[in-house]
Amino acid sequence: MSKSELPWSKSIPAGPWDYIVIGSGMGGMTTAATLASLGRRVLVLEGHYVPGGFTHEFKRKRWHWDVGVHAIGEVTDKAILGRVLKALTGERLKWASLGDPYEEFHYPDGFRIDFPDNPRAYREALVEKFPQERAGIDRYFSLVRQASGAMRGYYLSRVFPERAAALLDPILQRQAKRFTAITLQSVLDELTADERLKTVLAGQWGYYGSPPREGSFAIHAAVVRHFLHGAHYPIGGAGEIARALLQKVADAGGWTAIRAEVDEILVERGRAAGVRLVGGEEIRARRVVSAASALVTATKLLPPAERPKPWATGIHELPPAPAHLCAYLGFQGDIRAAGAGSANQWFWKTWRTDGCTWDWETEPEAPVLYTSYPSLKDPSHDPGPDQLHTGEIVTFVPYEKFAAWKGTAWMKRGAEYEALKADLLQRLLDGLFAHRPGLKPLLRHAELSTPLTTEHFVRPAAGSIYGVASSPARYANPWLRPRTPLKDLFLSGCDVGAAGVMGAFVGGILCATAAEPLEVLPWLRRVNAGDASARRGPAR
Ligand SMILES: Cc1cc2nc3c(=O)[nH]c(=O)nc-3n(C[C@H](O)[C@H](O)[C@H](O)COP(=O)(O)OP(=O)(O)OC[C@H]3O[C@@H](n4cnc5c(N)ncnc54)[C@H](O)[C@@H]3O)c2cc1C
Repeated sequence: MSKSELPWSKSIPAGPWDYIVIGSGMGGMTTAATLASLGRRVLVLEGHYVPGGFTHEFKRKRWHWDVGVHAIGEVTDKAILGRVLKALTGERLKWASLGDPYEEFHYPDGFRIDFPDNPRAYREALVEKFPQERAGIDRYFSLVRQASGAMRGYYLSRVFPERAAALLDPILQRQAKRFTAITLQSVLDELTADERLKTVLAGQWGYYGSPPREGSFAIHAAVVRHFLHGAHYPIGGAGEIARALLQKVADAGGWTAIRAEVDEILVERGRAAGVRLVGGEEIRARRVVSAASALVTATKLLPPAERPKPWATGIHELPPAPAHLCAYLGFQGDIRAAGAGSANQWFWKTWRTDGCTWDWETEPEAPVLYTSYPSLKDPSHDPGPDQLHTGEIVTFVPYEKFAAWKGTAWMKRGAEYEALKADLLQRLLDGLFAHRPGLKPLLRHAELSTPLTTEHFVRPAAGSIYGVASSPARYANPWLRPRTPLKDLFLSGCDVGAAGVMGAFVGGILCATAAEPLEVLPWLRRVNAGDASARRGPAR
């Protein structure tokens, strides 16, 4: 697809619009593509100059990286989510497996465990490392399956408006409450006394950002189930996701405008009537979807008169998931021979799971380094004669430590900030090279993103990597649902689905379902049944 053929631009075509979707992350794109499939004319407004939210890619010199796409499960035809995604993207979006194993966990004392791409081998890998704990491990998988099944009722309940919650939530969420209301730690404590096993079972909490004492067991079970059959990566890079979904929007007469930052949602006669852009332009639509995160919607995008309403304050009081640092690395040479691979590699400095963010003033090294090599995951990547490859190192940090520079402009935050960044980047690199020394001579480019970088480009509240934290309180909150009490305003994205790319996809589908239930629900049933005609989208 050449640049001139991209399904987005800076210009905003003339209305009328059925829907405006604020934000082109996975959630916003999914809602827009689903509504476009119904024949709705949708305008997606994206503040950044590249669409995709955390799925966007960027380029420096001869390398390009994705931001928030390292491992995605459930994208094949075997999963209902994969079938729905394929119905929206057709042959435009293809996936490559990360292979077996898709993930390596390295703990202190040389302890290593790999996560294979099928549940039986995963169980066997755990039993081999912890032979005395067979019963606890089996009980763990049983609870993961039970919790995942029970969450269907929870998500169904969220499609209904909050005014129906008093009646429907107790019925539809009855099973799920057993799992949403408890922490992962409480489950682990009941399963085993082996602290190492607890740490290993909790290993993937980085995919939702809440450590075991804070995160709900429901999200942990969802993530474990998500990856039971391994993980995938978009062929051609993460940017292919936006190209495929936004083309669907364009095909139906809609459009995506980039550099179109929404300043405020317009409320007229008690309903959401459109938006005002930062430049002052007003655009009206029959309905408005905010996929710019629930926290940002409640605290920034609603007009001041709406923000004190119980639903907005109810969302506002939820804490965000943590912020992160990411080192983007450009290599030249054979990184596979130096120990890199398509599997993600987690390097833990500690067996403890109670802390989650790196306080660099007291800890010389980050407690965890999550490392990923996008160019080795993408079979279409051509390293060329110079063998160009990419790598990323991610770790969680406290957002408050960057508060002093909030309000400063990108690339102009001052010498102190630059010095801090250089120090943190060096420490992350030293950590990586301690485990993978062969990569050091191949490094040609390195730069660090901080929570302020994330805020500048993707605009989440408090630089949050996953929106609202996945605590039991989040699941008990009645307001995190697609249909808001403000007429014609809907929410989409990971906050109404779950953390992660496919979590945001779920949020996008739930939002489209809440907005147009009579057309989307029968379509979902047809997709699930494998009906080929469902590929054309919901029936018109
Ligand atoms: C480093 C990192 C690694 C990750 N790794 C993985 C992984 O391996 N697997 C996985 O499944 N998930 C991963 N994630 C998480 C995943 O990428 C996100 O949870 C998901 O993409 C969020 O999608 P979303 O649609 O909810 O929101 P976002 O992607 O945050 O999209 C919100 C969009 O709204 C736009 N916006 C905000 N305000 C405005 C405004 N006022 N006007 C216009 N536009 C606005 C933003 O610019 C943004 O494009 C990772 C995230 C990060 C940061």
